Amino acid sequence: MEENILLTGIGASPGVIIGTAMLVDRGRPDFSHVRLSTDQDVEQQIAFFYRAIEESKAQLERAKQEVRKRNVPEGEYIIDTHLLILQDKVLLNSVSRRIRDEKIDAAWAVGLVMAEFKKNIGEISDEYMQERTSDIDYIEQRILRNLAGTTVEVVSRPAENAIIVANDLSPADTASLDVKTVLGFVTDCGGKTSHTAIIARALKIPAVVALNDASLRISNGDMVIVDGTNGAVIVNPDAQTLLKYRQQKAKYEEFERSLLRYKSLPSLSVDGFRVNLLANIEIVEELDSVQHYGADGIGLFRTEFLYLNKQTLPSEDELFGIFRRAAEQLAPKPVTVRTIDIGGDKFMSQIDVAEEMNPAMGLRAIRFCLKEIPIFKTQLRAILRASAYGKVKIMFPMVSCVTEMWQVKDILAGVMAELTREKQPYDPHIEIGSMIEVPSSGTIADLIAREVDFFSIGTNDLIQYLLAIDRVNEQVSYLYEPLHPAVLRLLRRIIDAAHAQGIPVAMCGEMAGEPLYLPILLGLGIDDLSMTPIALLEVKKILRSMDYRQCRRIVHELFTFSTAEEIRSFVSRETAGLLPA
Ligand code: PEP
Ligand code: MG
Repeated sequence: MEENILLTGIGASPGVIIGTAMLVDRGRPDFSHVRLSTDQDVEQQIAFFYRAIEESKAQLERAKQEVRKRNVPEGEYIIDTHLLILQDKVLLNSVSRRIRDEKIDAAWAVGLVMAEFKKNIGEISDEYMQERTSDIDYIEQRILRNLAGTTVEVVSRPAENAIIVANDLSPADTASLDVKTVLGFVTDCGGKTSHTAIIARALKIPAVVALNDASLRISNGDMVIVDGTNGAVIVNPDAQTLLKYRQQKAKYEEFERSLLRYKSLPSLSVDGFRVNLLANIEIVEELDSVQHYGADGIGLFRTEFLYLNKQTLPSEDELFGIFRRAAEQLAPKPVTVRTIDIGGDKFMSQIDVAEEMNPAMGLRAIRFCLKEIPIFKTQLRAILRASAYGKVKIMFPMVSCVTEMWQVKDILAGVMAELTREKQPYDPHIEIGSMIEVPSSGTIADLIAREVDFFSIGTNDLIQYLLAIDRVNEQVSYLYEPLHPAVLRLLRRIIDAAHAQGIPVAMCGEMAGEPLYLPILLGLGIDDLSMTPIALLEVKKILRSMDYRQCRRIVHELFTFSTAEEIRSFVSRETAGLLPA
């Protein structure tokens, strides 16, 4: 037996596990194409097709029940998306039409129609849409398996300490994994932002995806180490490697535990400079995580997930219920609700929006809201009503000029007047903020600062637009550099402009949760950092070991360097021993 085979892929969910491989064959069943000769054959194939659809729906409904029992809301919403595809009239009609018109068997027709769907989506070159093609693949395979009568529900009874190895796992399969016995999984396909990876993180099980041929190189019963933090998989480790990973696993678990003691400690530097450490959330179910990691509040509630993959728009009461729950659960800590950032790579099925050549620079975020005013007003009413139940703030994404802020404030004033007339309670002094995530608003930060109560810097977009690097294109990802002197200069300008106007500045892009950048952000005088909840305690630990005055000196000097590399090594030298290696 070959020992110590190292496979590398993408770490989709962090942590180290050591277990026994269990292969799951989710391959596409073999079909030969059959031409039909009689009308009776045609009708029979159409009937087989509809039966396969009904069976597929029943299986997904069962998976949904399972997922609901386990309280994995992301899983439910993904299964709902798949159920919607199965009810799609265009899909159903196209397949039956092809069987009838072209006189071909059901599996053949399904393959052709699905290929067409995928081709249409494939022409839209963005990551989110690309992931929708994998949803279509999962559905196609399910229908085909049901047509072939070979359907098997995935890994219903895995052995203890199983590590699932598969060419691919659908989100529904993943959400139904029994986490009492399944430690984690590895797959040949997938990406970090795929739905399958999202579910792995929600279930808190380590996973590595995009391994290419893991399912061919691993056999049932092999011992497997999965390092979900670094995207590595080791098959049949030798004694030395096993020992190394056992130690690493123990260290990781100990590190996680040790961080919990920072939960209730204040977010202060050693010399008493306060930086509020806040959480970014996408769905209301994450509130428990926010509290578990002791966040000082919510710095970014991305509300677009309440609109995606739904047949109808959420009602005002539905939105109000969600925002109120967050406000009440966290009170008196702040909950910063960002109005919908729809468009770009996130689309809504309820509204027809024209296809755009360049969606990242198109009708996105506040631009969309200022065009679809009824949708915007409904959301503002819900947020304002929730503000009577805690400390709610509102912020607006993608603001690029002062006029947009004026328009937003006009609409907000109108909505407030309406609520007052209706005697609905709300906080009349609710704070409003602008996200600074477009170079134009960064450049005129002094002018925008006069219009708002706070700023929140969205570095994910700001860096993409400032450095002209598509944030979802892996070809140029090597150029995505938060330490680029242009980025740091713009950050300094934004923070100084806000402070000159007497308003605080938060940062809610991914840069905020990276320990390496903390001394710089602290030295620049950032007031709040908002990040994924699991990053909070490590950042707090480092913050509590840093000296604000020293960070100010570091920042003062770093503006003399001309490259990101020089800045990185200078900061590492100056903070030696304080930051993780
Ligand atoms: C950002 O752009 O940094 C940000 C926080 O917004 P999003 O990632 O949702 O675009
Ligand atoms: Mg953004």
